[in-house]
Amino acid sequence: MDTKKVFSTLEALREIGFGEIYVLREKTEGKKEDKSSLLKQLYERLEREKKCVLYESASGYVFGEGDPNSPVVFVGEAPGEEEDKLKRPFVGRAGQYLNSKLEEIGLKRERVYITNVVKSRPPGNRAPTKEEMASCLPYLRKEIEIIKPKLIVCLGSTAMKGILGKEYPITKYRGKTFPYPYDNRIKVFLTYHPAYVLRNPSSEREFVEDLKTILKLISEA
Ligand code: URA
Repeated sequence: MDTKKVFSTLEALREIGFGEIYVLREKTEGKKEDKSSLLKQLYERLEREKKCVLYESASGYVFGEGDPNSPVVFVGEAPGEEEDKLKRPFVGRAGQYLNSKLEEIGLKRERVYITNVVKSRPPGNRAPTKEEMASCLPYLRKEIEIIKPKLIVCLGSTAMKGILGKEYPITKYRGKTFPYPYDNRIKVFLTYHPAYVLRNPSSEREFVEDLKTILKLISEA
């Protein structure tokens, strides 16, 4: 919610003679808590069931984090060493780079939701296998079902495989949108993984271009 806009509307109403304005806060706040508590229940289930593999080799699960009411969910591959240590997604070098690029376009990390396909660190940071991804995907799908974002951003090809069930060449399909196979009201947008951009600085311009498109897509009605 744009608080500035709300206050200026209230001010305008006061100027034209509305003395007392009642705002139904409880309803909205209740709704916000619902998503947070549903996510909390999901994470408790993930911990309890331990069906998402790699749990034993890592030091536990790393859940998604951010604003559960965000119109956009960023999906990465799997936690790395730093994420495994701190139990938070995207807090290592790639995460810090992503945060700085989000800030540059005026999108604060706390305003978006960030998660991964696989919820614990693959040994030696290798890419997760098909089976490992399949064991964790039901939890990612549930996360998305709870958040109901407008847009899912796949950061790299593992996220694309997990979300779309298909793999397109990322250099050709980045910047494009697809319908989310489980809910066609949600769009899926493909871009590079920030770790790839760090390794290939020449892709930064396209990555920033993609972030700007994301901002446009989420501000559309
Ligand atoms: N890379 C990912 O894909 N996810 C993280 O959380 C960190 C790095």
